[in-house]
Amino acid sequence: MVLDDLGSSLRGTLDKLRGKSRISEEDVEEIVKEIQRSLISADVEISLVQELSDNIKQRALEEEPPAGTPARDFVLSIVYEELVDLIGESTDLPLEEQTILLAGLQGSGKTTSAAKMAWWFSTKGLRPAVIQTDTFRPGAYDQAQEMAERAEVDFYGNPDNDDPVEIARKGLEETSEADVHIVDTAGRHALEDDLIDEIEQIEGVVDPDTSLLVLDAAIGQGAKEQASQFDESIGIDGVVITKLDGTAKGGGALTAVDQTDSSIAFLGTGEEVQDVERFEPNGFISRLLGMGDLGQLAERVERAMQQTEIEEEDWDPEDMLQGQFTLNDMQKQMEAMNNMGPLDQVMDMIPGFGGGIKDQLPDDAMDVTQDRMRSFSVIMDSMTDAEKEYPKAIGASQIERIARGSGTSEEQVRELLQQYKMMEKTLKQFQGMGSDKEMQRMMQ
Ligand code: GDP
Repeated sequence: MVLDDLGSSLRGTLDKLRGKSRISEEDVEEIVKEIQRSLISADVEISLVQELSDNIKQRALEEEPPAGTPARDFVLSIVYEELVDLIGESTDLPLEEQTILLAGLQGSGKTTSAAKMAWWFSTKGLRPAVIQTDTFRPGAYDQAQEMAERAEVDFYGNPDNDDPVEIARKGLEETSEADVHIVDTAGRHALEDDLIDEIEQIEGVVDPDTSLLVLDAAIGQGAKEQASQFDESIGIDGVVITKLDGTAKGGGALTAVDQTDSSIAFLGTGEEVQDVERFEPNGFISRLLGMGDLGQLAERVERAMQQTEIEEEDWDPEDMLQGQFTLNDMQKQMEAMNNMGPLDQVMDMIPGFGGGIKDQLPDDAMDVTQDRMRSFSVIMDSMTDAEKEYPKAIGASQIERIARGSGTSEEQVRELLQQYKMMEKTLKQFQGMGSDKEMQRMMQ
């Protein structure tokens, strides 16, 4: 399978992120290195690797993980999206009448792929026909005929005619009852001028809706030149990657996709006519990484991202540092924690307050557990707005009333006020720091 070991090596690295909700630069470096190593060993061109890893690095460090999304899921969704971006959508092949031309070097798997694709279209209720124009390779006709028979699709070829252009013209006429015409062409060991001339002439006669380049998954960097030559002569709309059952590489095919600005149409995974898959990027990459449905994960992260943006519009943690900190702020802070993670992480989001500075805070200031948050929330619901805005005015009689109203104890109400004071003090410290030039310098 393409990039076969990417999944396992990346899984190991990503697992180290389990339980973390923030990603450090070292984490990102390690993940990107794993990806680079796998892509390069799968023969993906170095400039593509560089581009992909730069994008992943930049996004993982600059984008904020959305509310409640663990770091692992966040990074995984970025890796997934960037891989989808690199590999692209599947070649558009509508399930309707059409003509497809196959190009590629000898042995790449054209003849096999023609029959496989015809079989695939037949499973979609269409009537496909294979037209074999390879007069160069001895045995091509017999092989194509036999495979078309196995695929139970229409077939045209003529072993007695050595003019492939003529065969193509005749083939289209003879198989006019079919909806999908798949025209197989001759390959050579290398790209020779006569091959290019021939395929250009066939293309002129066939006038295909789609031209596909068939590539052996093991091809490597040679794919680039092939792809650009075929693209120049007939225009390549998509790539068929064959023999994925026998190699861990496949990066060359990705280079070809990039070079021709095309996409992947089909994957060949064996010698039988049924050993074919329509390329589907989501499932492909999810399987590649060995991880469930990553498309869904990416969507979930995206949704959470939008949600966080909405909430951030209403409440900016930075505002809290500017002026008065009230119980309302504390309540918002606690609600936000449900979405954004604990206070110390929210602090990380505030420019200049991450890193070592929060380590200087008393432990209790950050100790807002889920249970405490829930009981604080209940207590605050029994407070008046004025009390929440001016908590200092809450005296013994108010404490008694609030405890009764919220079904909690006076001790719990006091604990909430204590917590509030602690947070307020902490924030005052921050505000103090903000005016200190030396501290500002340190925080940069
Ligand atoms: P052509 O010269 O491009 O028409 O290539 P062929 O279709 O004749 O394929 C060359 C060889 O590769 C044949 O032996 C095929 O059976 C084999 N082949 C083609 N596709 C696949 C594949 O997806 N998996 C495996 N294992 N073998 C394949």
